[in-house]
Amino acid sequence: MNAKVAVITGASRGLGRSMALHLAAQGVNIVGTFHSKETEAMSVVREVEERGARAIMLQLDTGDSRGFEAFASALSSGLQQTFDRSDFDYLVNNAGIGINAAFTETTEEQFDQLIKIHLKGPYFLTQKLLPLMTDGGRILNISSGLARFTLPGYSAYAVAKGGVEVLTRYLAKELGARGITVNTIAPGVIETDFGGGAVRDNPEVNKMLASTIALGRVGLPDDIGRAVAAMLSDGGGWINGERIEVSGGQNI
Ligand code: NAP
Repeated sequence: MNAKVAVITGASRGLGRSMALHLAAQGVNIVGTFHSKETEAMSVVREVEERGARAIMLQLDTGDSRGFEAFASALSSGLQQTFDRSDFDYLVNNAGIGINAAFTETTEEQFDQLIKIHLKGPYFLTQKLLPLMTDGGRILNISSGLARFTLPGYSAYAVAKGGVEVLTRYLAKELGARGITVNTIAPGVIETDFGGGAVRDNPEVNKMLASTIALGRVGLPDDIGRAVAAMLSDGGGWINGERIEVSGGQNI
């Protein structure tokens, strides 16, 4: 039987990279996407190969749905050429950016950018890729703890993530007939480049946020990568339409 194939958006860095590496370690082949950082993306291909799986990386802007048709076509070719497959098994809608702006200062441009990348993108990308997804496949939408608890400066971002969580439930209902499960993973605060890397690089911010987490530290990319790999293992097959927060117990 062919190895499973996971499509992960935003796999060049941060959480998406860690998901790719943890899935590769359990024998899943990877189609990752990058937006602008091709060199980083190609490093992830090598790291996947070191773990005994195979990977390709495709360019994608999840904020521009006009490119999704061409992406689906590139994906179809890549699946055939690299994995001898006409379909794939898992989709992780992960790509994203952070913008910190108070509600009173948030511009329409910032709002539109966040909605396009985090909500409209996953909505129409999933729609476009469904014909390439195998029946019995799985979709994970990456949300954020900020859709449950509130931190000033993230209203537009959190509104977009809240929309993704509603989308998860609707997709789970509508795609059940094909045996496709759909769930939300909502990470708490994690040390990545996200939002300029402040959580990782600013000790005061890091310490303040760690104090909000029951396990006493902020998250690391591997905390999310291994959770995603667990969800996409055999044991996750009956979990459907759920929102699972992976935060070490933040703001509980
Ligand atoms: P990151 O380290 O900044 O990585 C972002 C990834 O998304 C990169 O692969 C980047 O590609 C890609 N990307 C950015 N803009 C894109 C666009 N317009 N189209 C396509 N790809 C794009 O961020 P991260 O921390 O891994 O975040 C991943 C996801 O987790 C996001 O959805 C974020 O909202 C969510 N999240 C993060 C945290 C956290 O604390 N880090 C917490 C909760 C939720 P390039 O490398 O090519 O730029």
